[in-house]
Amino acid sequence: MATTDKEQEIVSVMEGIVGKNRVTNSIFEKIKESLDPFPYHASRENLPLVVVLPERKEQISEIFKYANKEKVPVFVRGSGTQLAGSSRPHIPGIMLNTSRLTNFEIREDYGFFESGPGVRVGEAADMLAERGWFLPILPGSRVIASMGGVISNNTSGHIIDAAIGKLADYVLAVEVVLPTGEIIETGTKGMRKPAGTDLTKMFVGGDGIMGVVTMIRMRLIPAVKQSYGIAIYPDLKPIARAVKRMYVEKAPPPLFMEFMDHNVSTIAFQIKEMEPPPGPVIFFVGIGQDKEEADKKMAKVMEVFQKEDPIKAYPITDLEEWKKLWVAREVIAPYLMNKLQGKLIAIELVANLAKLEEAMEEGARFNEGIPYLEDLTNYYFGHIGALTMHPTFVLPPEWDDDVMREISRNQFKKEAEFNIKYGTCGGEWGQFSKRTPFFIKRYGETAYELVKKMKAVFDPNNILNPGILEGYR
Ligand SMILES: Cc1cc2nc3c(=O)[nH]c(=O)nc-3n(C[C@H](O)[C@H](O)[C@H](O)COP(=O)(O)OP(=O)(O)OC[C@H]3O[C@@H](n4cnc5c(N)ncnc54)[C@H](O)[C@@H]3O)c2cc1C
Repeated sequence: MATTDKEQEIVSVMEGIVGKNRVTNSIFEKIKESLDPFPYHASRENLPLVVVLPERKEQISEIFKYANKEKVPVFVRGSGTQLAGSSRPHIPGIMLNTSRLTNFEIREDYGFFESGPGVRVGEAADMLAERGWFLPILPGSRVIASMGGVISNNTSGHIIDAAIGKLADYVLAVEVVLPTGEIIETGTKGMRKPAGTDLTKMFVGGDGIMGVVTMIRMRLIPAVKQSYGIAIYPDLKPIARAVKRMYVEKAPPPLFMEFMDHNVSTIAFQIKEMEPPPGPVIFFVGIGQDKEEADKKMAKVMEVFQKEDPIKAYPITDLEEWKKLWVAREVIAPYLMNKLQGKLIAIELVANLAKLEEAMEEGARFNEGIPYLEDLTNYYFGHIGALTMHPTFVLPPEWDDDVMREISRNQFKKEAEFNIKYGTCGGEWGQFSKRTPFFIKRYGETAYELVKKMKAVFDPNNILNPGILEGYR
């Protein structure tokens, strides 16, 4: 592809800011940085003009000052795994990749750690675990997802909000380069989060539209002891009723509580060479300061679960058995993609507690009436302790881009209808991009206009991540 004068100028300016070896306009890098988990190709007309890998906040500030002067869009990218379309560029611009911003410091004397946005979630968790601390973030993508990406979505992944809160509850402060190039630090170095107005909240769960987070400061949480349990039921309905009982009967919500329908649990157990279960499975982790407390909490959940007549329900005391089960659940998506040589799409349905039984059953029929999708198997599992279900499909790779795009449009339309019906919203993948029509329907035009005005305050020229809020496809 021929390089235009403007593109060449941008490349030169970027090289001047971050150095030649941190800038590329190779077509391969442009395509790589334009892809996300969606099953269709990058659009040629939206490819970035240049990919930049800054190492310092001051460089990011310079990039934005130039971009504002020249009105060039800047897209920010962690690892590109977001599942609502926010990491794809929607028009040509500068692609700012955060993977070189990897400072990580544990400050036990202060009671916090600080992380650069480019640190991978799994690496952060390992570094903390080595010193006896726990990272309250566990998405299925943790091996690759970046701290900046999860912060922008405010997602704690599989962790159940009711057990220990949400990621934002632990963020004491962020450092941010604003789209105009100014640098601010919010929050505190203390152990207590600010009362009243705290700009941290604008950026944690900010959908990447208000500023680029260059440092995340989070409270250190001591690692907890865990206790494990599993229940197998004849079908999904008693699972829904058991989860509902857990909340209504005041059993302590576990840290994790996952379900797999019978088809998925059969496949998962076979992957780890375990005997397939006789029905859908639910498994969970009780936590406590010591093992006794964790066991007690798990037993309380088990007691409630027994009331829904499981085929089998028992504490898992063999750590190897637990690890097998957990890994089986974790690898189900890559296993299916590999086995069927297809492309994956996952949906995020969130029920309310009162209608959990109905919602769970409806999610099992998610693909009904959706062209192409209705002919595929719904691999149905999710973080049921957080009332979240993920209908998942493997699309044959030979389907062309137009079909994949149509499926994607329909998937988000139906997801929106579901979450509006139950009065909920996605808790993992942000609120805009593919979900912008949902946001407008769910919260109204006035709410949407307010967010647009807020963005305009931070980003008067709409330089940062244009398209996310607008919901371009
Ligand atoms: C196989 C698989 C499993 C997954 N499992 C889960 C799961 O269990 N739970 C869950 O919640 N999610 C899950 N996800 C989704 C995804 O991993 C998360 O949403 C994650 O938060 C995105 O991180 P990322 O680094 O890839 O962000 P990206 O996709 O690169 O970016 C996401 C958004 O954040 C913005 N952003 C990135 N860095 C910054 C920054 N420094 N400052 C400001 N904005 C920034 C981007 O502009 C973009 O808008 C999964 C994805 C896959 C592919």
